[in-house]
Amino acid sequence: MKYLVDHEKKSIHRTTYANDKCRFNDTHVDKREFTIDLTYIERLKIEGNYEECEFCNILAAKPQGI
Ligand SMILES: [Zn+2]
Repeated sequence: MKYLVDHEKKSIHRTTYANDKCRFNDTHVDKREFTIDLTYIERLKIEGNYEECEFCNILAAKPQGI
């Protein structure tokens, strides 16, 4: 799983499920970061108060095909 970190809005997206509602396109490219490092993601959530984006994570939680 590849993640997109929005450092401006402090949100974490899953690139596979990211969509127009995610709004990270408003964020300057310098403030966006791609990573596959889940440890880093967890640290951002715990120490940085980053939140997982509701739009791509709701999709990620659903089984395929729904
Ligand atoms: Zn998102």
